[in-house]
Amino acid sequence: MSSDMPVNSTDDKTTEEPTVAFSDLGLDARVLAALADLGYEKPSPIQAATIPLLLEGRDVVGLAQTGTGKTAAFALPALSRMAELADLNGPAHTPQILVLAPTRELALQVAEAFTSYAKYLPDFTVLPVYGGSPYGPQLAGLRRGAQVVVGTPGRVIDHINKGSLDLSNLQYMVLDEADEMLRMGFAEEVDKILEATPEEKQVALFSATMPRTIRRIASEYLRDPQEVAVKSKQTTGANITQRFLQVMGAHKLDAMTRILESEEFDGVIAFVRTKMATEDLTDKLKARGFTAAAINGDIPQQQRERTVENLRSGKIDILVATDVAARGLDVERISHVINYDIPHDTESYVHRIGRTGRAGRKGDAILFMTPREKYLLRAIEKATRQSVTQMQLPSLDSVNNRRIQKFTDRIDATITGQDLTTFREIVEGFAAQHEDLDHLEIAAALAMMAQGGRPLLMTEPVIPPSKKARMERDRDRGERGDRGDRGERGPRRGKTAAEGNAMYRIAVGRRNRVQPGSIVGALANEGGFNSSEIGGIEIRSDHTLVELPAELSKDQWRALSKTRIGGEPINLELDSGRKPHRDDDFERGGDRGDRGGFRGGRGGSFNDRKRSGGFRDERRGGGDKRFGGGSRGGRDRFSDSGRRRDY
Ligand code: ADP
Ligand code: MG
Repeated sequence: MSSDMPVNSTDDKTTEEPTVAFSDLGLDARVLAALADLGYEKPSPIQAATIPLLLEGRDVVGLAQTGTGKTAAFALPALSRMAELADLNGPAHTPQILVLAPTRELALQVAEAFTSYAKYLPDFTVLPVYGGSPYGPQLAGLRRGAQVVVGTPGRVIDHINKGSLDLSNLQYMVLDEADEMLRMGFAEEVDKILEATPEEKQVALFSATMPRTIRRIASEYLRDPQEVAVKSKQTTGANITQRFLQVMGAHKLDAMTRILESEEFDGVIAFVRTKMATEDLTDKLKARGFTAAAINGDIPQQQRERTVENLRSGKIDILVATDVAARGLDVERISHVINYDIPHDTESYVHRIGRTGRAGRKGDAILFMTPREKYLLRAIEKATRQSVTQMQLPSLDSVNNRRIQKFTDRIDATITGQDLTTFREIVEGFAAQHEDLDHLEIAAALAMMAQGGRPLLMTEPVIPPSKKARMERDRDRGERGDRGDRGERGPRRGKTAAEGNAMYRIAVGRRNRVQPGSIVGALANEGGFNSSEIGGIEIRSDHTLVELPAELSKDQWRALSKTRIGGEPINLELDSGRKPHRDDDFERGGDRGDRGGFRGGRGGSFNDRKRSGGFRDERRGGGDKRFGGGSRGGRDRFSDSGRRRDY
């Protein structure tokens, strides 16, 4: 049995592909009209199954994966009922519908959905309330009398405590993305809010998964709930093509660049493990000329929202995100999801790739994995019921062919779209003065100028032979299999990048008594490098050779030109063609390898989980004890519920 939904209730309803239309469900005509405007053709399975129940007034637990239309499943019947109540009693002036959502982004999305479904309903106001933004407008909105309040649990509690949220007339309460809400530690708040609401109300709980904590909440606060589970078969769109690329950590950036350069993409989300990695990767992508931005839990809410808006509008193309920050994001133009770091588990994977293929579009999901992680593919294929095919690193030729194509397209566009008179005259004059010059030669010179001195074509990086041998050795061994266990500076490994790196020379050496650690520290701090970017360090008597990314941004150059180590200016410069000759002269700087979340070998984490059921806890740096109980428990317990064997 391959169900992703461990649902055991006796009154389960497992739905098949529905043949019903929205108009069959009993929704208010004004709501139907809004749906027609939105272009919704027919209800999704979870909608077809839950809308009639909710219209009847029943409490419902709805389980379906991300992207299956759960918002409309609870919003449409709620609005229909409220509209009909308003027809009878006149408009209400206190909140009738309260939706709890785990994050500001999701609260805003739900609020927007409500607004669009309520388009033809008179006097309906929807108010999102969330943390990290001023109370003023929210208070004003509440005073004006919003009928629908969509909020994050923390802020809703605040308003309840302040007395600004009047729940006395509440008719309908929704816990949206309940599993995520609990995972984020909101169990207590959810309890409190539910206790603060009137006895007589309808409750709907929607979730992608059903951990035990949700079962507890459902049995405590829902009245004889009808449980509806939609099998995941119908969810992960067949419109998403899944591929994986075998790539070592040190080469991921290069791989990503090549992919972006050789595939047609619109919007991209790249998922990484840590908040720090979102910033790192964003900076590196920007240095390579992409428009990118990071979102993670540490970035202020407003800025996150702006970033998502920028992605939506095309101001940026790439969002680098952590799982939590991107949860539920619904941006149609996302054509690619790149799993830059492998997700924690198949469930996260499914959520991640669900960010693409929105609104029936085609989507591409690409997973970077090391040879050690390859065995996880089967679990992913099982969870998504689709095969994940291997892709090859786009070749230099394919990248360059596209660069040439784009370049020549620009020529075309300029010829057809611009007035060339002035330049034509200048070139004519120039050619007349240089009769010996072939016109092609002149054109080539101009092309080079147009390129602004940057090389147009990508070249294969030169790898010192000793290094190449070492990299191959590492590859055979599997990436960093044993690094985490040692937690100390070892001999250089695969992560010490060669590709895309260059050798630099700094003017401090043994004479100045520098240590590798202080060099790494200074470079990392001043140049903003992360661990994987600083390669081998060879300390000579009066200077030191350091491997750093071949392409440094202007800011990095500027910062590093001012850097001092031990009081001495380092005078960073590219080392002209000199390569380190003795392997054992290399010292690996700093205990940096594990920062990106590789402790214990990343691939091993799934193994660990299998053994102990607790890898998720290890990830968070605590033991089972720390997260075993309490609000985080939801997910951990979920892992005991039968899905674990999928791994
Ligand atoms: P979930 O909460 O299950 O992750 P959402 O409610 O966010 O999913 O819906 C995902 C996307 O599908 C949204 O863009 C929404 O507008 C769209 N959608 C929902 N229901 C339908 C439908 N019946 N027809 C077409 N698009 C729909
Ligand atoms: Mg949702």
